[in-house]
Order: sequence, then structure tokens, then C-alpha cells
Amino acid sequence: MVSRVIPVDNFDLVIFGGTGDLARRKILPGLFRRYHSGQMPADARIIGAARSDMDRKGYQAEVKKALEEFVPKDARSEKTVNGFLDGIDYVTIDAMGDGGWKELSTMLRKDVVRAFYFSVAPSLFGPLAERLHGHSCAGPSCRIVVEKPFGRDLESAKALNKTLRDHFDESQIYRIDHYLGKETVQNLMAVRFGNMLFEPLWNAQYVDHVQITVAESVGVDGRGAYYDKSGAMRDMMQNHLMQLLCLTAMEPPSRFDPDAVRDEKLKVIRALEPVTPEHIVRGQYVSPEAGASYLEQVEDPESITESYIAMELAISNWRWAGVPFYLRTGKRLKARYSEIAVVFKDAPHSIFGQAAGRHRNVLTIRLQPNEGMDLFVTIKEPGPGGMRLVDVPLDMTFADALGPEAEDVPDAYERLIMDVIRGNQTLFMRGDEVEAAWAWTDPLIEGWTERGDRPYTYDSGSTGPEEAAMLLHKEGRRWREIRP
Ligand code: NAP
Repeated sequence: MVSRVIPVDNFDLVIFGGTGDLARRKILPGLFRRYHSGQMPADARIIGAARSDMDRKGYQAEVKKALEEFVPKDARSEKTVNGFLDGIDYVTIDAMGDGGWKELSTMLRKDVVRAFYFSVAPSLFGPLAERLHGHSCAGPSCRIVVEKPFGRDLESAKALNKTLRDHFDESQIYRIDHYLGKETVQNLMAVRFGNMLFEPLWNAQYVDHVQITVAESVGVDGRGAYYDKSGAMRDMMQNHLMQLLCLTAMEPPSRFDPDAVRDEKLKVIRALEPVTPEHIVRGQYVSPEAGASYLEQVEDPESITESYIAMELAISNWRWAGVPFYLRTGKRLKARYSEIAVVFKDAPHSIFGQAAGRHRNVLTIRLQPNEGMDLFVTIKEPGPGGMRLVDVPLDMTFADALGPEAEDVPDAYERLIMDVIRGNQTLFMRGDEVEAAWAWTDPLIEGWTERGDRPYTYDSGSTGPEEAAMLLHKEGRRWREIRP
């Protein structure tokens, strides 16, 4: 396969919160990898901005440390690291004060793409936006990038959107959900809408059910106080899993353009039926190891916040009438594993008799680890002894199918930041999508909070509470394995 790195236009990218964890772990290493691949123009500029008092050299040294920590040795060279650092600048700025802004405005060039990454707490978005305008740093063609959480309920999401829209047009706002930047997630659209094979089967007539799993093996370790205010529903289900659901269930957009795609995703959220309590299972992990159970890692020993949630959703439209979508996500599970599985119905009549067993086609889209797809098809088990059937995967692991180039695909952050520079919002959430997702989520959270529903417990390293298995068992289905 021939590498096709398409360079982006020249840019100035200001990272507010340039000294923070996200900038060090994701944003700067991601930008470096794009530089290393030759996608970034040689004189593109990245300007870190935070309150810490530092000069350009000091910040360059910090960035170098972050690259050494978060970019593998074989993915960097002294030459590319030094070249990248040449384009790094720093300005000391307090989002709540007025020092440093004049300096920033003189640093910014007029004839290049201008983007501001708000890698700071959401409470600083308003003050930052006001000062960017007040000091003539922002114009109608600049872009801003914001990170989740996009509110913690509908009301706060609306307030946040208003703050942003008071200063920027929706076409300038890039809300990052890094799940949308994953190669496989985009491949889901390519598979659905680039092939004749799948789309005719992608409906209630042929699909039995869909499972979406985002399993994490880590716990809340060290982030307990923050996580306990949010829980799996707010932290993962309302955003990442909801986005995966939308891409799986949406109608074909008329074009692969930002608003056409986002309109279709929004229709899916609006078609979700309210979920009743018997279709939701929440859990908290427990561990025999001292201090390793959820309730020992958060401040409130009586907390009813969930570290796991599974639910059965129904989409009320013609395509999906009667097809359950089972979604689950949790911490401290058996493995770090994420996939979307579209499970097709049984053949209407088996000519092989009961002894051949029950076989179903399943298309799985793996997000992690080993991004790729599998299509399980039924074939005859080789050898003598009559017609025994077996399901085998047609494996489409990208790295195997496409060669070494596929191993070098940009990670989600790299791709999304380059999309910001290109001005392509397709893989970013629009404000109305975020609000619709909260409008659907809020009553569910209010319901279990008012009832005081206590989550079930599950063992660390397991697949979640046993009660979650019952969600599917009662319909004669089962969760797919969470594989290490
Ligand atoms: P962090 O490590 O606490 O960093 C915060 C950054 O903001 C620091 O660079 C800090 O530098 C700067 N800052 C704080 N107050 C400021 C002010 N008044 N003016 C200017 N700069 C200020 O936070 P983070 O983990 O990087 O997260 C940043 C944002 O991304 C948060 O909204 C978070 O929810 C979101 N997010 C983070 C992750 C992640 O993996 N870390 C993932 C998803 C979303 P100074 O102290 O020097 O000012």
C-alpha cells in the first residue's frame, strides 16, 4: 500500500492548558506524530498557554519530556524532535486575567489557519472566549476545540453551548469525542455505505440485535473523587457509546459531509425510546484486595454511582423496530476491549437438521485492541463425519490486511486535530446532538437517583454483574465474550 499523507495547510494552534495532562499525554504527542509523518507544514506553530511562568525554552524542554514519555523511541528521531520543538512557543496567560493576551495577539499570523484548543476546565471557556475576542485574537475564521465533559446534564450542556455560541459560530466549534477519530469507527461508515453487501441487510428484517461494548480493565484509581460525581452513564454511555450507536443505526446520509452525517446521528438519538428500569443494570466493582473496591476508592462510602452500566435500548423507527441494542461499559472488567457486534438472524430454515446446531452471522467492528473487523460465517467443519457446521471469522485486522502502512495510521487525537486544521467537522459533535443525548439521559439518572437504586456488585476482572447477563438471557441471547 502506498502511504498517502496529505499535508494540511499552515497553522497556528494555541493550546490553552498546554502544561496539563491532556496536552502532555495526547495533544502534543499526537501533533508530533503528524509532524514526524510529514503531514504538518514545516513552519506550523504550536503555542502553549497556561498560568505557569515559563519562557519558550522552558516550555520546549517540557514538551521534549512529554515526547520522550509518550512517544515510543522508534517513532521519533533527534532530528524530527528538534524540528518539532522549533515550532513550539509559549505564552504565560491566565484565562481570568488580562496579562499575556497582547503578547499572544502579536504572535498570531494573519495568513494561516488559526485554532485554539481549550484544554482547560469548562468553567474557563467563557473567560477565554471573551478575552480571545477582546484582544482581537479570534476572528470569524478561527476554530476552537473543546473537550468533554460537555456538561453533566441538559441544563449545564445548554449553558455551556450558549457560552460558546455567544462568542463563536457553531461552524467554528469542534467538540472532540476521540472515539469518533478511531480508524474503525470511520470504517464502519465505509463498510456500510461503500459496499452493496451490508446495507440491504442492515435492518430489522435481518438483524437480530446489536451489542456495543466498551470495557476497561482499569478502575477509578486516583480519580475516584472526580469519577464518583459522574459515573459510567455520564462518563461513557451518554457520549462515547451513544456516538457509536448513532453511527451504527443511522440512515445513509446523502453526502459524507458534516451536517448531513450529524443530522442523521441526531435523528437516531431522537428516536430512542425511554428506557425502563428493568432494562438497565448498574454495577460497582468489588475486590478482595484492600482498598481496591469502588467504594473504597471514592470519598462517599455509601455512593450509588455506577462503575458499570448495561442497558437495552429500542429505536423507534422503521429500520430498527423490534431490534434491541444492548450497550455496556464499565471499569475493572476482564480486559480492555471495545467492539460493536451486529448479530444477524438465524437462517429461516436449516436444511442441515437440528444436529447441525444454531449458527448466526456476526459482523464485529473492533475498536480496541487490534482495530479491525470480523465477519463470522458458517461453513462445514472440515473432515469426514457428515455435515457439521462451524462459525469462522473472515478476519479483517487492518494491520494484516493492509500491511505495515496500516500500523502507522494516525491515532484518534492526531486525526481529529488534523481535521480541525482542515476545517472538517464531520467527526465532531454538534451542539444539538450533545443536548439531545442529555435530554435522553437525564430522566434515567433522575430515576435511579430518586429511587435510590443501589448498583449491583461485580468482581474486579469479571465481565460485570451477573444481572447484566439476564438482560439478554431472558431473550435467549448472550453477551459476546470480552477478550483480552
Ligand atoms: P490538568 O492536567 O488539570 O491541566 C489543566 C491545564 O489548565 C494546565 O495546563 C493549567 O496550567 C491550565 N490552567 C488552569 N487554570 C488556568 C487559568 N486560569 N488560565 C490558564 N490556564 C489555566 O487538566 P487536563 O487533564 O489536561 O484536562 C484539561 C481538560 O480536558 C479538562 O476539561 C478535562 O476535563 C478534559 N479532558 C481531559 C482528559 C485527560 O485525559 N486528561 C480526557 C478528556 C477530557 P497552569 O496551572 O500552569 O495554569
